[in-house]
Amino acid sequence: MNKKLYLDNAATTKVKKEVIEEMKEYFDVMYGNPSSQLYELGRKSKEAIEKARKEVADFINADEKEIYFTAGGSESDNWAIKGVAFANKNKGNHIITTKIEHHAVLHTCEYLEKFGFETTYLNVDQYGMINLEELKQSIRPETILISVMFANNEIGTIQPIEQIGEIAKEHGIIFHTDAVQALGGVRIDVKKQHIDLLSVSAHKVGGPKGIGAMYIKKGVKIDNFIHGGGQERGKRAGTEGVQNIAGFGKAVELAAKNFDEHNDYLIKLRTKLIEGIKANIPDVVLNGHPTNRLPNNVNFSYKYVEGEAILLLLDMEGIAASSGSACTSGSLDPSHVLLATGLDHGTAHGSIRFTLSDEITEEDIDFVVETMRAIISRLREISPLNK
Ligand SMILES: *Cc1c(COP(=O)(O)O)cnc(C)c1O
Repeated sequence: MNKKLYLDNAATTKVKKEVIEEMKEYFDVMYGNPSSQLYELGRKSKEAIEKARKEVADFINADEKEIYFTAGGSESDNWAIKGVAFANKNKGNHIITTKIEHHAVLHTCEYLEKFGFETTYLNVDQYGMINLEELKQSIRPETILISVMFANNEIGTIQPIEQIGEIAKEHGIIFHTDAVQALGGVRIDVKKQHIDLLSVSAHKVGGPKGIGAMYIKKGVKIDNFIHGGGQERGKRAGTEGVQNIAGFGKAVELAAKNFDEHNDYLIKLRTKLIEGIKANIPDVVLNGHPTNRLPNNVNFSYKYVEGEAILLLLDMEGIAASSGSACTSGSLDPSHVLLATGLDHGTAHGSIRFTLSDEITEEDIDFVVETMRAIISRLREISPLNK
């Protein structure tokens, strides 16, 4: 049996040991309801939540009072967009986003069209970057929200967030960014980058699944999301997932502590993998920006082959990765992100994303390159597309 190599860290990450340790006691020792403030068990739960809130706030240069825990990145994206749309509909009905957002953003914008909202979907260039001039020209008097992701989950491209924030601010438009992939991989400073709303999720940074957060800048007009009790300052009701929040806080603490070392190492691995693939496999296209990309993201298209076939053969070698088509989710359409960068359907179908972690070694990268070289040449030999 080969060593298992997990190279799908953009899909989710392994929960760090320290995080599991941190979470444990909130199941059967500190199990009080954080709203029960009249006895110690409840107060301890509340303290755990506030400690985690401070970790998250400090990591993105926000105030603790501006952090709201949610059930994950999708929920935060839903809340940001619907919450702003409905709270500001007297001001306007226009939203600007991009063609390469996560579906939690795209499908929420589509949903809002039923209520009379209109969305402009910005184009991206071949590297997945938006054009700031196009953004400026898309702004209308009735624009109430700009939502542009910090870094893309498929191709890793990092957007010019600070400049987008400046443009939004100049026009008095609320700026939301989906920073689920950026957290831990890119420096986030909500003040410097003029961000009003920001979505993050724990399970992409070594934390548990089903917990995330939203940063809501003080003063931003947004509807409450879950109606019920007074939790999360009345904006997001429901008894808090204390153990998940504590785990999220720990994951963020670790990400903050090892930030530079961790990312320098990932960039070294990323460079080695990109160079290795380019040097050993002909007819490949690097997707995403050559330098302005997440430290752990490597995404290539391999001409004349199908991504799904590559994934099957990789799995037989113990390597977990992800393809550029949505076949796994029951559809045969290639990824909307790759199509937006201008790839034709055929090339987009032959795409594989590797997302690295610090458990991967340089020897592992050599193994991946050699395995890919063998798989691609084998598939191309039998490919009807390869003339
Ligand atoms: C994973 C992801 C989400 C969804 O987060 P969940 O916590 O899984 O709901 C949203 N946006 C991006 C960019 C992601 O990568």
